[in-house]
Amino acid sequence: MTDVKPLSAPVAPGGTIGILGGGQLGRMLAMAAARLGLKAHIYSDIDDAPAFQVCDAHTVAKFDDAAALTKFASVCDAVTYEFENVPAAAAAVLSKAKPTNPNARALAITQDRFDEKTFVASLGLKTADFAQASTEKEVVEAFDRSAKDRLIIKTRRLGYDGKGQATVRSGEEAIRAFKEFHEVPSILESFVPFEFEASVVAVRSASGEFAAYDPAENVHENHILARSIVPARLSAKQVEEAKSIAKKIADALDYVGVLGVELFVTKDALLVNEIAPRVHNSGHWTIEACICSQFENHIRAVAGWPLGSTLRHSDAVMENLIGEDAAGWKTLAAKGGALHLYGKSEIRAGRKMGHVTYLKPLSK
Ligand code: AMP
Repeated sequence: MTDVKPLSAPVAPGGTIGILGGGQLGRMLAMAAARLGLKAHIYSDIDDAPAFQVCDAHTVAKFDDAAALTKFASVCDAVTYEFENVPAAAAAVLSKAKPTNPNARALAITQDRFDEKTFVASLGLKTADFAQASTEKEVVEAFDRSAKDRLIIKTRRLGYDGKGQATVRSGEEAIRAFKEFHEVPSILESFVPFEFEASVVAVRSASGEFAAYDPAENVHENHILARSIVPARLSAKQVEEAKSIAKKIADALDYVGVLGVELFVTKDALLVNEIAPRVHNSGHWTIEACICSQFENHIRAVAGWPLGSTLRHSDAVMENLIGEDAAGWKTLAAKGGALHLYGKSEIRAGRKMGHVTYLKPLSK
């Protein structure tokens, strides 16, 4: 960690925040930076990345191009990411050159489901029961040992939106799925009969200041987030518990920036499913319903600014616009919600094209 450049002073207005990744999250981060008088320089390996439309400067290069990463860092005052699967080598190059957050440890742990769950459990937090399975023998042994009739097999790395995971009901099914995943290291975890899914989005600064947004209740369709509803159906005690789970994780990682913690809500517990070391889709409602959005707070944290208020002044429902949903933009524009379109040139099935947030007066 000696090679990591700390932030010696806040990045002043006029300074540049480098953002690795140019999708909708990078785009909304760049817009939040602009509001604070900061410039965004986006680095993407795609030549028409949506974030390029709203930033001050951009670089198109591969994430393993050390020379391009070094040049990019040289024109930025602080660097951050919009996605979690940043190659460790890229993170090392960037953090050597400029203050880069979230830190390399947070990225490494959250890139690997086994390491992530082991870390969460080591904090005394609850997860689904899990075991690693890197060979056929381990897959069968883990299935038999669990004594459950329904498990989920997930690849340790690079899974998202339901990709790289399958529900399995026997050792044979588990092996079949493992083979479909090309026998990459995986985990088997018990199927959680949750009441619903929720998430808590939180932010931590370099000085250890912490703030969390109210948890959202999340509805998935085809393994993709369809809707986030705030407030979630959680008691005041569960809301506090969700926020303290996020704090425990953020403190233990010495985390700087916004993180999302996905939770399963069962009859008697909150279980951590996943940590996203970045701004999170289930936090988009904070743009309209809170004093300071998750995007602004992430920029504030990585720029060394004081955090903004996470206070929620409205109830909110955020609807994702997936694929063809976005073709209905004219109708949606007339419906009274806050419409966000991500500027993606082509509609594709399953692609996140935009979202709409509907507000209501605060219910509690
Ligand atoms: P993940 O990629 O781990 O976020 O999983 C994607 C979705 O699959 C989750 O949002 C849940 O809807 C479902 N899922 C994942 N793990 C489990 C589990 N252990 N039990 C029940 N459902 C799960």
